[in-house]
Amino acid sequence: MNILLLSFFFIFGLIIGSFLNVILFRYNTGRTIGGRSKCFSCRRTLTPIDLVPVLSYIVFGGKCRTCKSHVSAQYPAVEMLTGVLFADVYMLYAPLLFINASLFYFNTVVSLIVMSLLVLIIVYDLRHKIIPDLFSYAFATVTFIAMFVRIEPSALSLYLSMPELSHLFAGIILAFPFYFLWLVSRGRWMGLGDAKLALGIGWFLGLAKGGTAIIYGFWIGAVVSVLLILAQKILARASIHKSAHVSTQKSQNSPNADTSNLSLKSEIPFAPFLIAGLLIVYFFGYNMFSVLEIL
Ligand SMILES: [Zn+2]
Repeated sequence: MNILLLSFFFIFGLIIGSFLNVILFRYNTGRTIGGRSKCFSCRRTLTPIDLVPVLSYIVFGGKCRTCKSHVSAQYPAVEMLTGVLFADVYMLYAPLLFINASLFYFNTVVSLIVMSLLVLIIVYDLRHKIIPDLFSYAFATVTFIAMFVRIEPSALSLYLSMPELSHLFAGIILAFPFYFLWLVSRGRWMGLGDAKLALGIGWFLGLAKGGTAIIYGFWIGAVVSVLLILAQKILARASIHKSAHVSTQKSQNSPNADTSNLSLKSEIPFAPFLIAGLLIVYFFGYNMFSVLEIL
């Protein structure tokens, strides 16, 4: 592993993350991706110095240089996440560079595209509780096509071939349970967006690892949901104590207002959990079904 290349991938990730923010803040708002970014408050066109990933946020204290209004923490968070994921992709495939360079380039390019799409899906689902079809279908399409590409180590050539049947159908098989849950609950338990996301998970990781990723996703989701509900109960209890002491104060500005009706039925975005499962399996190579050789 080369520290220079690692830094290159990290910085490249920061820059792509900055671009992903542009997509995230403009998608479905009628604005195009082109055109200079402006401050949301004072409309000042941002200069290159305002757009240096992460650093500009830290140096200017998370505020606009002109109007001092608050800049969303989503900017540095998305940039850092993308930077770290890109560096992880390099670390995963670095050993290939000296064995089969073509395979290194192919795997890296596909993975960087996939990581970018996953960042878009995580953040969009967290903010809007929906996964745009464009993002999930792009993920499914890229992974579906990549599945057919083979690279010969000796000939350094690229050709197309049929993948294993279990891999070919992995997307459909893993999407089906989500589709079924969506169908029987008429969309109350599970959104159709999760089924579309599962297509890409299957085609990216294959059936066994994809299945493992989804099971991890459910576990992580269950733990986080229980913690959120506990936190909400504790906050609710604390605010009851508070209002007993300050009974004259109106509760209309309660900071807990948006978490106070959180229950198991609330729409907790599920895509971030599924993607967390995917990333664990992808970077650490876990496979719960490795005993079943046929998968
Ligand atoms: Zn401003």
